Amino acid sequence: MPRKHNPFDNYKAVLDKAAELLGLTQNDYIILKYPERSLRVSLPIRMDNGEVRVFEGFRVQHSSSRGPCKGGIRYHQDVDEDEVKALAAWMTMKCAVVNIPYGGAKGGIQVDPRTLSKGELERLTRRFVAMIMPIIGPERDIPAPDVNTTPEIMGWIMDTYSMQKGYAVPGVVTGKPIEVGGSLGRSEATGRGVMLCARMLMEKLGRSLRGVTVAVQGMGNVGSVAAYLLHREGAKVVAISDISGGIYNENGLPMEELRPHFAARRTLAELPDGDFERIDNDGLLACGAEILVPAALENAISRSNAGNVSAKFIIEGANGPITPAADEILEANGVTVVPDILANAGGVVVSYFEWVQNLQSFRWEEDYVNDMLERTMRHAFDEVWALAEEKRASLRMGAYMSALKRVVGAKKLRGIFP
Ligand code: GLU
Repeated sequence: MPRKHNPFDNYKAVLDKAAELLGLTQNDYIILKYPERSLRVSLPIRMDNGEVRVFEGFRVQHSSSRGPCKGGIRYHQDVDEDEVKALAAWMTMKCAVVNIPYGGAKGGIQVDPRTLSKGELERLTRRFVAMIMPIIGPERDIPAPDVNTTPEIMGWIMDTYSMQKGYAVPGVVTGKPIEVGGSLGRSEATGRGVMLCARMLMEKLGRSLRGVTVAVQGMGNVGSVAAYLLHREGAKVVAISDISGGIYNENGLPMEELRPHFAARRTLAELPDGDFERIDNDGLLACGAEILVPAALENAISRSNAGNVSAKFIIEGANGPITPAADEILEANGVTVVPDILANAGGVVVSYFEWVQNLQSFRWEEDYVNDMLERTMRHAFDEVWALAEEKRASLRMGAYMSALKRVVGAKKLRGIFP
């Protein structure tokens, strides 16, 4: 069934708008409307009950103009090729905004991993790696975690690839457990980047995070870390939600107490009643918090609910959480949006640091990783802010213009082969 909001169409619409602002011609950037390579694989798995089931998986490489392709792998029942294509293209833009030497890629398997046993999940992962083996590698395409994929799964990817090669190749995947070449700071990096963007936005407006009210949608790796770090910076996290629902307290939620709950991957429905009100997703969007962090899936804010958003500032923790139609409504309502390709780039920035450490067989200290992340984010944020001001455009346009300049510039210098 075709999607209601095709995320790859959304990507192309935004790309066209930014290209127009920059005065680019179709010749300059038409190539970015197509992924370089797309591999669709069938994955037969022997289930624990003896039955054989076949899952569908994808690896899409959108661009390698600025370096090896880079991007996560997601396990979700709604994964399809258009979604993976969009996610791959966003990775190209994201790596360009933060100026790390990568192109973009993404992978996905259409599966609800909660329905699999651990053994089934491991067999599915290893079979997927075997099937995409010809197109991945530390100098070719480097996977990482995304929705529902963990450091443990990255460890299986590293092992499967290494077993085929006959020697350990830690640089083939990032987001690994520390023991097999993961980087300190990587698991919190995306949430940390979200917090940094919120802080930098407040600074640009002559304010700080102290006392600012925040609502966070999604309590996965991005949302839960962002909420906790925002709280640590003095912001007041008043509402959070996950797939099971949300909770609200106008005086702030007890983030220190909630942290272990999310670390154990438990849902809010499993949380005993406490000093908070139960709310639903619409309640979270309209809860009155100044900053909203959508950190769930694509298209969470669409034409139908954008008008209910009460926040003045949105930091996009997820990829593509706002549809283009919703973006227009928010802009008309005076909401400032820090776009995904900047706001959630902290993860891939520290993935880059992990890969560099792997290639050099060297290990950085956590403070150094966090410091380099902050510098990288600050540089990108300032550039995006300046471009948006110069063109009197949104921060999303600023980010896309900044990315487009780099990707189109690299393409021009390399030329079209042959
Ligand atoms: N999946 C994350 C993202 O969407 C991280 C990608 C990576 O580290 O390569 O940015």
